[in-house]
Amino acid sequence: MIVVMKTDTPSSEVDRTIQELGSWSITPEKIVGKHKVVIGLVGDTATLNPEKIQQLSPFIEKVVNIDKPFKRASLEFRHGEPTEVLVSTPDGIVAFGQNHPIVSIAGPCSVENEEMIVETARRVKAAGAKLLRGGAYKPRTSPYSFQGHGESALALLAKAREATGLGIITEVMDAGELAQVAEVADIIQVGARNMQNFSLLKQVGATNKPVLLKRGMAATIEDWLMAAEYIMAAGNPNVILCERGIRTFDRKYTRNTLDLAAIPVLRTLTHLPIMIDPSHGTGWSQYVPTMAMAAIAAGADSLMIEVHPNPAKALSDGPQSLTPEQYDQLMRQMAVIGQAVGRWSSKSSLSLAYSGVA
Ligand code: PEP
Ligand code: MN
Repeated sequence: MIVVMKTDTPSSEVDRTIQELGSWSITPEKIVGKHKVVIGLVGDTATLNPEKIQQLSPFIEKVVNIDKPFKRASLEFRHGEPTEVLVSTPDGIVAFGQNHPIVSIAGPCSVENEEMIVETARRVKAAGAKLLRGGAYKPRTSPYSFQGHGESALALLAKAREATGLGIITEVMDAGELAQVAEVADIIQVGARNMQNFSLLKQVGATNKPVLLKRGMAATIEDWLMAAEYIMAAGNPNVILCERGIRTFDRKYTRNTLDLAAIPVLRTLTHLPIMIDPSHGTGWSQYVPTMAMAAIAAGADSLMIEVHPNPAKALSDGPQSLTPEQYDQLMRQMAVIGQAVGRWSSKSSLSLAYSGVA
């Protein structure tokens, strides 16, 4: 349930209303939008009488019931206002959300050694990426496959961060590793296979780091939003949703089926920023550029792409990784679509280079 306050309600009146609501068996949450203040009510709202709430203050415009199972993640909870997830990086704040330029993230599937991660970081930064991705702990189908270098890889990510100023995004697989991951990561990634690891979701929800929540490979959109709700209910509102392809009957020519329809669907359901990962979404580097551009055209807020200095030798996900040169080219192509939809930052070095050429 949400309580929408009238425009220009004095803040003392908002606070008084929140205090009154707090004495009931619910948790009121103040959400300050551009034009209005909304008070979100979570808890046992079924017993609440909207008319009684309405009488609490003459400044209450309306009381709206949220009929979806996800509450904090629902579009209604913020009265339609998109969430802005702000990520601090050494180079400054990077903002994710519908009212911001598309954020480009790139890097290898796994951190392999210092030279490759620092070199990749330099290359993707020069191309315009704002964050470096790289796995230290890797969820692999086979226990005999490379599992990631763990803690030592986190130290290498910290070095790449220091060398380039890029923010870091890396996956946490186990709550026992959360503290060390959170020390290096500017965004904590929860992978597809852990999307419904509810105890992990609660624990990342208790941190103050933004969380990238990948869609489980067999998760419905509602399962995914309920997983986001777990993180938000635990106190962390900074969730970015990442579509990375779902498992369908056809796996012969693509690794997963990238569900780009999720973008317009999510826009009707949630205020959270949306990222697309066309690398896992297709499984093959040759299809990544087409789907990356399609994602921008469909309204994605961010793109995460796997880049490796030598994909043929990669310890994981080589076939879907672009070379740094291919990433340079893709960034130029993405700039064209990004500019067409009004979502490309003029500060991105390659978009500047491109506008010189156009
Ligand atoms: C990854 O980002 O490298 C990864 C393992 O992703 P996913 O959880 O989507 O498979
Ligand atoms: Mn990968």
